[in-house]
Amino acid sequence: MRLFRMTTTIAARIGLCVMALGLGACATTTSSGVVGANRQQLLLVSSQEMNQMAAQSYNELKVESQQNGTLNRNAGLLQRVRTVASRLEPQTAVFRQDALSWDWEVNVLQSDELNAFCMPGGKIMFYSGLIQTLNLSDDEIAIVMGHEIAHALREHSREQMSQALVAQGVIGIGASLFGLGQGSTQLAATGYQALIATSFSRGDEAEADRIGLELAARAGYDPRAGVTLWQKMINASGGSAPPQILSSHPASANRIQEIQSLLPSVMPLYEAARR
Ligand SMILES: [Zn+2]
Repeated sequence: MRLFRMTTTIAARIGLCVMALGLGACATTTSSGVVGANRQQLLLVSSQEMNQMAAQSYNELKVESQQNGTLNRNAGLLQRVRTVASRLEPQTAVFRQDALSWDWEVNVLQSDELNAFCMPGGKIMFYSGLIQTLNLSDDEIAIVMGHEIAHALREHSREQMSQALVAQGVIGIGASLFGLGQGSTQLAATGYQALIATSFSRGDEAEADRIGLELAARAGYDPRAGVTLWQKMINASGGSAPPQILSSHPASANRIQEIQSLLPSVMPLYEAARR
């Protein structure tokens, strides 16, 4: 989605946040947890609008895949993915209490694509190829899912949408006080691709790694699986068809190092959850 390929510099982001402070448009969507995630965010579009669009787009995707026979074809895989989700969801309250009342949904698409996402409001989709091709363990599924859920908790898509709208001059910050107007028309036209931002910033990725790791650990999934997962991703990225998920989530040795550095904070949560 081109709208989301637009990047704003960190300086511009900070500038917008400072400008918006007086208007109440800057906030943070989550509590910090033990891993810490306190960055202020530019949020001009409402969560409600984002969640409604996500629910609609998710539904369209389900109907489409139902029609072409690719929705939830593998009962065993669906069971595994839903079990992981059911253990992760209650842990989201650590970061934001309202997530407990989200209308969570988890489905599996039969597809060779190596992909997974969580749309705003908790609409999760796993692609069978990701689990089967990389032979993911339940711990590794939990790391991917925790990471994708973290994007939704932090409302990174909403933030990107806000930044893109301002950058495009679709709405000014002042306009947000009077509702989106023209902006909503544009938002509605973006479809589900827009709701699973195709290009998260490195900062967003790092936040999602941190929060996702803590969610997994608190749910009793081994956070060390973060290391093996990203090693598998790196190995897969050398092939002829790099995983779809890597276009928005680059795999790198640096990323693995950062995950390793977080392990001392989250391992005690994992050990406590296992008792
Ligand atoms: Zn990500």
